[in-house]
Amino acid sequence: MTGPVLVTTDLDRTLIFSPRATEVLGGGLPRSVVEVHEGRVISEMADVVRSGLAELGRMPADAVTVVPTTTRTVRQLQRIELPFTPRFLIAASGGVVLEHGRVDEDWARATAARLAGCAPVAEVRAVLDDLVADEVVLRAHTAEDLFCYAIVDPARFGVEEVERLTARLLPRSWRVAHQGTKVYLLPDALHKAYAIGHVRERLAGELGTAPELLAAGDTWLDAEMLELADRGWVPAGSEISRSGPPPWPHVILTATPGHSAAAEIVGAWLEHAAEVGERPRR
Ligand SMILES: [Mg+2]
Repeated sequence: MTGPVLVTTDLDRTLIFSPRATEVLGGGLPRSVVEVHEGRVISEMADVVRSGLAELGRMPADAVTVVPTTTRTVRQLQRIELPFTPRFLIAASGGVVLEHGRVDEDWARATAARLAGCAPVAEVRAVLDDLVADEVVLRAHTAEDLFCYAIVDPARFGVEEVERLTARLLPRSWRVAHQGTKVYLLPDALHKAYAIGHVRERLAGELGTAPELLAAGDTWLDAEMLELADRGWVPAGSEISRSGPPPWPHVILTATPGHSAAAEIVGAWLEHAAEVGERPRR
């Protein structure tokens, strides 16, 4: 690989962590608050990660482009104080691409067309609402009118409930991802990797070559993104790491968890970007 680099990265539990996650995962480093909601600290970022991302953000676009790629809604994403201003943001698990803060309408149309092959979000939300009524889940939400998520009590919502929900939604082309107190219900048309393909194509058109893809993520919602990447990173202690080593040969498990994993990952990107910077430009 001798060209520009595209870095697509998950945020929660990959680059930023709640105080509670740091308590559980370890790997604490000097850090500062990057997200407050309703007076509560939601997320923190290590100082070394902040400065590393800021440095990557200052590099020319023909060297490196960093794209935060998250399942958060646009509003939840914009709550985070990032140390650089990304040109592209991928939100809603790939359902929304923002460029310079504005919705990419071409991508919105392409997503809507793909979604036509899956059950409508209202139908899936009704399934969740029934589970709220039956007190199987605590609260149900619809995100960006694209997918649903629910807040659950992990003591009351286990493997059996996930299997039951999956059996019901699979034939309707939706999938279920359970992460602690959250359950995500996503249409098959929505994947981070799809949106990354779109951004990569845009960049390829401008740069004259498809950028090399580096990616990092901690959960199975990041799987397709990591699989698509040329090189990937999974934090130690993460959901993916709990099922063993990452199942892709080009994906590395960090040596340390938490903020320390984020520091490892951003450090590797900086090293890689520096190598690219040293190569002669066309
Ligand atoms: Mg995450």
